[in-house]
Amino acid sequence: MTKKLLTLKKTKSLDRVVHSAHNEAFNEIDCLGCANCCKTTGPLLTPPDVQRISSKLKMTEKNFVQEYLRRDEDDDLVFKSMPCPFLEEDNACSIYAFRPRACRAFPHTDAPGQASILNLTRKNAKICPAVSRILQILSEHS
Ligand code: SF4
Ligand code: SF4
Repeated sequence: MTKKLLTLKKTKSLDRVVHSAHNEAFNEIDCLGCANCCKTTGPLLTPPDVQRISSKLKMTEKNFVQEYLRRDEDDDLVFKSMPCPFLEEDNACSIYAFRPRACRAFPHTDAPGQASILNLTRKNAKICPAVSRILQILSEHS
């Protein structure tokens, strides 16, 4: 972590600079040209996610869970396989309008409380080129 980031963490200015870098990075990077998060990591699905997505797909929750989901080692519901079964060949998400909340939130660099997720952000930089670019922008400004 750079000295500047440590200082920002202390002064609580980190959210402002990370959010600005987030906007800059996502103006440069097109997720449809990447989809690496949908190909490699995948989201956790909450009960409201299961309810909403199964309803939109006109499936029972039970059938949706049986067909698409499994419990991971932390007992969370995740997709059975990666790439995500809803990722299309052109990298579009076939359930985009009602996708899991975690998909909407990733990579979390526009969320409040950046100081508390710096380690996660550094980890996400390994799979997400936008996060990698955000860290690069931050280091250039430090
Ligand atoms: S890994 Fe990052 S840049 Fe790639 S699709 Fe996901 S959010 Fe977008
Ligand atoms: S549901 Fe959509 S956004 Fe979420 S991992 Fe699958 S393809 Fe990607």
